[in-house]
Amino acid sequence: MSSIETLWTKITDEIKSNENDKFAKMFMSSITPSSLEGDHFVMEAVNDFCRDYVEKRYSKLICRILSNQQPALKYRLITRTGKMGQLVAGSKIMQPVLPIMVTETVSDKAAKPVPGKYDGMFNSKYTFDSFVVGKSNQFAYAVCQSVTRNPGNLHNPVFIYGGVGLGKTHLMQAIGQELIKINPKTRIAYLSSETFTNEFIDSLKDKKAESFRAKYRKIDLLLIDDVQFFAGKEQTQEEFFHTFNELFQQRKQIVLTSDSPPDKIQKLEERLASRCAMGVVVDVQQPDLEMRAAILKKFASKSMVEVPDDVIMYLAQGVVSHVRALEGAFNSVLAFAGIMGKPISKDLVDQVLKDLLRENSGGKISIPWIQKRVAEFYDIGEDELTGKRRSQNVVLPRQVAMRLCQMFTEASLNQIGDKFGGRDHTTVMHACDKVNRKLKQEKDFCEEFERVKRFVDPDKQ
Ligand code: ADP
Ligand code: MG
Repeated sequence: MSSIETLWTKITDEIKSNENDKFAKMFMSSITPSSLEGDHFVMEAVNDFCRDYVEKRYSKLICRILSNQQPALKYRLITRTGKMGQLVAGSKIMQPVLPIMVTETVSDKAAKPVPGKYDGMFNSKYTFDSFVVGKSNQFAYAVCQSVTRNPGNLHNPVFIYGGVGLGKTHLMQAIGQELIKINPKTRIAYLSSETFTNEFIDSLKDKKAESFRAKYRKIDLLLIDDVQFFAGKEQTQEEFFHTFNELFQQRKQIVLTSDSPPDKIQKLEERLASRCAMGVVVDVQQPDLEMRAAILKKFASKSMVEVPDDVIMYLAQGVVSHVRALEGAFNSVLAFAGIMGKPISKDLVDQVLKDLLRENSGGKISIPWIQKRVAEFYDIGEDELTGKRRSQNVVLPRQVAMRLCQMFTEASLNQIGDKFGGRDHTTVMHACDKVNRKLKQEKDFCEEFERVKRFVDPDKQ
């Protein structure tokens, strides 16, 4: 059985042996071997950006080396941001204080918890303080703040809607965290509509409907994120309707978020939609240029890194979609500057964000984007994904790409087939089924699929 050190030496020796590899240095400085857990060799990346790079460039090489061990090993790459070396910004050398989060390639749910009773419920980053207010969200912000001063009485329910990554979850959590501060005894339930649905279904299955009901009817603040996922789930909607009424009558505060206004949510029962609209409905919109710059400045001051104004403006002009994309772009630039030991400049921004600025600025993931990223991940040509070859090293990536197109875009099977060299919709259907079956049967493939998914959608939290 190999030790951590020998394994690490084998991997780094192999990477170093390729003199043309300009990312070798980055690899060495951003990854450290951490432990051997069962048959997994665990490595730590300094941040998500490096992890994704390593996944992309070295995943195959590392897998090959590890699978040649006796016994064969696999790897896991985890992220610990906040432990980077020194960041160079302008000519000053500063200590980086990046957000501290422990994230894994496989599951990326961790957030720095708020200490106390609500451990782990909220992300401590999501407070009113850290929220930048501008034209696009000032009304939503004001309403949310006022709710914390007089919960249950002033605006009930509060319904926040808007596109992805515009701060809905942030505001909702800010309300929760503020109310805990004001009164630590506040009983809070914060969950997504999906979790509510799953818990409800489980409670029926386990014959615990009563305790489910009781649990959500004796709280002071109910925060339900992304209610659009109640769509079409009639029984859950019915249950939620009663929970809503009960809490409302007791003057308990309810806050809901969604991607569209109540009356535009497909397959949401009318009576529930009208309940949702009963209090105050506010929207969050895309930030304008000025506000994007303000948000970037806030990120910079939080990170204690000096970012020149021209770079801030450049980034704000380049990433126009949503705040989450802005945050991702900003973190990537910092990480890259730190690792490469370069000052933060427009050139560096260009280098890091080429793909992001050009291709992903619509905020939505497109079929060409998925094809490009999947091809990069599997190290094959994009034309091979759409081409006719049926060799195994191309077929699986092609099927994975089709499944991801089905997941991430609203394209029909026909449209997807079209973009994959004019294939029939039944071919796409078969590909998706194949991937789903494999996901059920092969744990390794599940991990791989999660990695590809993250690679395609690095914004995903
Ligand atoms: P949504 O729930 O609308 O999809 P989130 O609340 O998850 O979006 O926001 C995405 C990311 O952008 C989060 O990290 C959040 O902190 C950040 N963010 C969004 N809006 C703002 C803002 N106005 N000021 C500061 N950060 C913001
Ligand atoms: Mg959200």
